Amino acid sequence: MPHLFDHLDSVQRFLSLPPLGLISDIDGTISRTAPTPAQAQVSPVCQHHLALLAKRLKLVALVSGRPVVQMRQMLESEAIVYIGNHGFERWAGGQVEPHGDVRRYRALIDAALEDLRPLLAIEGILFDNKGATATIHYRLVQDREAAKEQILAALAKSPAAKGLLVSRGKMAIELRPPVAVSKGSATLDLIRDYDLRRAIYLGDDLTDVEAFRAIHSGEAPNFKGLAIGVIDEEAAPEVEAEADFTLNGVDQVEQFLGWLAEAVGSA
Ligand SMILES: [Mg+2]
Repeated sequence: MPHLFDHLDSVQRFLSLPPLGLISDIDGTISRTAPTPAQAQVSPVCQHHLALLAKRLKLVALVSGRPVVQMRQMLESEAIVYIGNHGFERWAGGQVEPHGDVRRYRALIDAALEDLRPLLAIEGILFDNKGATATIHYRLVQDREAAKEQILAALAKSPAAKGLLVSRGKMAIELRPPVAVSKGSATLDLIRDYDLRRAIYLGDDLTDVEAFRAIHSGEAPNFKGLAIGVIDEEAAPEVEAEADFTLNGVDQVEQFLGWLAEAVGSA
């Protein structure tokens, strides 16, 4: 897979057709992986680049599995658009705006986590009930592979989980409502809402691959997207396989955002 820094000329050409957007994941993309989600941070350098880009591009949006309230706490800029809970929440006018009728799945998410409660006996397992979606983290478990199998086995036995979409991420299993809302649909909504002709999407995990596919789908007319996969030792093979270019880790994303801010600033 071509490394992005070897192809900055073509990125520059790609950016010659505004309106331009930058859409990015947070964890593992602009924020280094931490032992627990609460410990993760976006560096001041990254925040500076994003704030500059928010002034210079039509859209800078962050799309994450985190609740939007948490995203707002991690980043200082009001000029960024925040889409949380895998597309089920948007931060608008200083408050949380849920996507459609997602509230009716809350009880199912609660019930699935209740079914999984015995897993909490495994040291290191964390449940994150985010309302619209939930994440079961096993990063801190000694035997991660065994923990993953136990979580999947428990989900297979949970009646509530059968009514939800179960997907895998880095050292985590996600529970989502089984509706056509994802980082992919959220990205297409942003492209339409902001009339973008070009956008770069940055992400590091399988839920981001849904956005890679969305920007490559041709569903948005007069639009072209560039998918950048952020690769580390935990990355699923699909992230690299479906990206146009790759970057190695959060440090390189930070460098790229600096380059991008200059590139569009001088345009
Ligand atoms: Mg991520």
